[in-house]
Amino acid sequence: HKVRVGLVYGGRSGEHEVSLQTALAVLKSFDYDKYELIPFYISKTGQWHSGPLLQAPPSAVAELQYGTVNEAGSEDGGLQAQSQGLQPVLRGMQGSALAATEANAGADERVIDVMFPLLHGTFGEDGTIQGLFEMAGMPYVGAGVLASAAGMDKAAMKTMFAQAGLPQVGYRYFTRFHWKRDRESLLTGIEESLGYPCFVKPANLGSSVGISKARDREELIAGIEEALRYDRKVVVEEFVDAREIEVAVLGNDEPRASVPGEIVSSHEFYDYKAKYTDGKSVMVIPADIPPETAQAVREMAVRAFLAIDGSGLCRADFFLRKSDGALFINEVNTMPGFTPFSMYPLMWKESGLSYRELLDELIRLAIERYEEKQ
Ligand code: ADP
Ligand code: MG
Ligand code: MG
Repeated sequence: HKVRVGLVYGGRSGEHEVSLQTALAVLKSFDYDKYELIPFYISKTGQWHSGPLLQAPPSAVAELQYGTVNEAGSEDGGLQAQSQGLQPVLRGMQGSALAATEANAGADERVIDVMFPLLHGTFGEDGTIQGLFEMAGMPYVGAGVLASAAGMDKAAMKTMFAQAGLPQVGYRYFTRFHWKRDRESLLTGIEESLGYPCFVKPANLGSSVGISKARDREELIAGIEEALRYDRKVVVEEFVDAREIEVAVLGNDEPRASVPGEIVSSHEFYDYKAKYTDGKSVMVIPADIPPETAQAVREMAVRAFLAIDGSGLCRADFFLRKSDGALFINEVNTMPGFTPFSMYPLMWKESGLSYRELLDELIRLAIERYEEKQ
């Protein structure tokens, strides 16, 4: 039988639009001889809307935004996941699949074989939806709860990397509570151990939101206050003048690493604008680095994946210091940009795996992990 995949996209994060674009690309690329798709659209306000069983690809993003908006401007017909708790979501996932089945395939009792979350950032990449799938007993694509949460929390991630012996730039982290109580000693500690310039980041965001570079104490304080608007936990890092090298990792217990790629940012650093709005950042795949460096960075990428207990996929991002060629892991992203023009799929393409083959492999890995747990 065809594998029935539930695709979840949209969502409450700032990356809602990116997610929609990704969903369209994914829906267009699946092999409909092998798969049938059930779309789950999460609106910006967090309501779940399920679409019909798809046996052919849609042609535009507008077709994927199920649900309606009434005259008062609020949504009708969603599953009201926010206000009614978890049950309707679970019932909705199973129920709409059943309804779709009844309408399309008669007595077919199957629900969904595998869920495919295409959500970035908070409530998607951070372990929350993965926990929902665990509770519903459904196989799902990508990292599990722990790896997703670790990949979203830069402080937890760094602790796990340190434990695995991976090289990182110097860093410190603290909470809002700690900042209010010990501001002076935190500042002195940062200045003595990291110096200026340094990077200030909210622990739990992506897409460079809330990140700044501080050149003196005044900027450091402003940066910390800014980061604390987004999160109760802040990470401060030593600045490194470096090239940015990325590697795509794919697998479960024996993950493979792609050829490395390089991001050459159009801005002073790879900030939100450079990532999404001005489009001038250049991706160089494969990265123009010596073969030994490529080998080292691929090995480190696999170690980083294993360090956070990854599964399915992740993109590991590195700094290659310009002065001496030293490598440092910066972060892993468990739900990296996934349009056909994003780094992750392009690095696999360069490594001999097409977008469609990548989708096949991700579904296979999701089912493999699920079966291994039973
Ligand atoms: P995000 O998860 O939002 O992508 P990153 O930690 O990758 O956050 O930081 C975003 C960008 O900021 C990086 O791609 C890089 O350009 C720059 N950056 C982050 N940390 C440092 C650092 N310690 N030294 C130099 N540049 C940095
Ligand atoms: Mg990130
Ligand atoms: Mg990053």
